[in-house]
Amino acid sequence: MLSNLATRDVETLLHPYTHLSNHRRTGPLVLERGEGVHVYDTEGRPYIEGMSGLWCTALGYSNAELVEAARVQMGRLPFTHLFSGRSHDPAIELAETLKELMPVPTAKIFFCSSGSEANDTQVKLAWYYNNALGRPQKKKIIARRKGYHGVTIASASMTGLPANHMDWDLPLPGFLHVSTPHHYRGAEPGESEESYSARLAAELEETILREGPDTVAAFIAEPVMGAGGAILPPKGYFPAIQAVLSRYDVRLIADEVICGFGRLGTWFGAQALDMRPDTISFAKAVTSGYVPLGGISIDPALDEVLIGQSEKLGGFGHGTTYSGHPVACAVAIKAIEIYRRDRVIEGAAEKAPHFQRRLSALADHDIVGEAKGLGLIGGLEIVADKASRRQYEPKAGVAARCVAFAQEEGLIVRFLAGDRVAVCPPLIITPDEIDSLFDRLTRALDRTRDWIRSEGLK
Ligand code: PMP
Repeated sequence: MLSNLATRDVETLLHPYTHLSNHRRTGPLVLERGEGVHVYDTEGRPYIEGMSGLWCTALGYSNAELVEAARVQMGRLPFTHLFSGRSHDPAIELAETLKELMPVPTAKIFFCSSGSEANDTQVKLAWYYNNALGRPQKKKIIARRKGYHGVTIASASMTGLPANHMDWDLPLPGFLHVSTPHHYRGAEPGESEESYSARLAAELEETILREGPDTVAAFIAEPVMGAGGAILPPKGYFPAIQAVLSRYDVRLIADEVICGFGRLGTWFGAQALDMRPDTISFAKAVTSGYVPLGGISIDPALDEVLIGQSEKLGGFGHGTTYSGHPVACAVAIKAIEIYRRDRVIEGAAEKAPHFQRRLSALADHDIVGEAKGLGLIGGLEIVADKASRRQYEPKAGVAARCVAFAQEEGLIVRFLAGDRVAVCPPLIITPDEIDSLFDRLTRALDRTRDWIRSEGLK
């Protein structure tokens, strides 16, 4: 029997990324409040938020300073915009701070409200840039299978997951996908991470040559893949990829929507993985997820072209009502101040070895094939046979079952395609809470193993 609130939910809400027919039966998990790394449901049951919501609440829940920053800005000037040269001090100050922090040459910051919008803007600007430079054929975008870049039409085209393409008439023409850089699944037996990276770089080069280098505008990649499985690239991957991109004048877009602002123990994921992008997309942890904000860095060459084009075209035809929303900017300024003042990112780096030790120990569990990550993010894969790496039938829903057991154990984690389970807690998690998280996850895996046996799954 669903509760009153659950019944109202089922009757009224179209839930994003939800198995809609199952949801009618099971109803929602309704959360009511949060504190530190914990969230509480309407029955008062606590859960460790092992996913930081959706990879975003880096500072945990109920951070009074973020709440106060929003309250003050709401009272002062809840809305104005940046259209037609209008401006406000929170947007100016935040852009200055981000310019300083960006690990790439940055002339300007463009703001929007989500990761999808940020990546859509990247595509549009890559096209606009090449039109301005008189090479209108240089428009194709290369992404990776299992990459995740959002759901708006261009971003969903770059996303490399079947659920975002099937029956959505996507990807759009001109969007291509190369292999997922996942050593555990993609490497040949005995192939080192470095030679696997070299093989992936060769695949990228063949793709660019097949399409024609003068038709390829950009390559987009998350430093660590998130929604596609929490997958760490093999050693040497980005340097190998970059050598190819620079040979053919193809821009590298780093999708830092998850990795930006400390997730890998560095301000940006690019810094942890020897990645030298031309531009960065960010969102999520820039406000610790408290209010929606996204954006991208604009490199000096692009900035110059944009200014030149506006002379010709009479203005810059892109932007949304909430580009640089003052409340979002005020909260982001405060979040970054806290990251710096409280050494949150250095703290994440210090806690990472403990987190990664606990994670990799799970690879010894009977049903776990791989358990790997970087900083405070990790993914594990459930397999039917550890030696052959064979998986259960997708419809058995083994990882979903594990996540449901974790929830009963008071832990929120997320299952992803390929029977993977992602872990991505708030950066403020303490070593004791890390232990508690992995103790609960271990119990969930034990229960999953017992369930597999009782169901007779092969
Ligand atoms: N890029 C990455 C790497 C993401 O993880 C996400 C969201 N999970 C997006 C883009 C899209 O962001 P949003 O959901 O805010 O549109």
